This record gives sequence, structure tokens and C-alpha cells, in this order.
Amino acid sequence: MIRCGFCKKGIDETMEAEWSEYFTEIFCCPDCATTYYYNMAMSRPLEVEEIREILNKEEED
Ligand SMILES: [Zn+2]
Repeated sequence: MIRCGFCKKGIDETMEAEWSEYFTEIFCCPDCATTYYYNMAMSRPLEVEEIREILNKEEED
């Protein structure tokens, strides 16, 4: 059985499955796919303070 690369659920044709050419991985739904992509990219939301810091640095350059 082919399983989702994120939640490990078995894939069937009723699902809104996603394929990643980059990771050569199949996912059972867009949510599993995007969560996996975010994890692999080590992506996270920024705190307001962090955004300010980045914007300040940009101005100094
Ligand atoms: Zn899944």
C-alpha cells in the first residue's frame, strides 16, 4: 500500500492527493503536503519583534 509521506495514511483515489517532484513523495491531501514542505524548509512564523529586527537591519544596509 502506498502511504502519505506525512501522516502515513494509505492513499486511495478518492483523496485529493498531492505529488512532490522535488521530494519524490506522495501526500493524501494538500494540508499534509504543505505541512511537510514547511517542515523540510524549517519554516516558521516570525514574531513581531523579529520582523522589526529584520526591517531595522535592512535600513542599516
Ligand atoms: Zn496525509
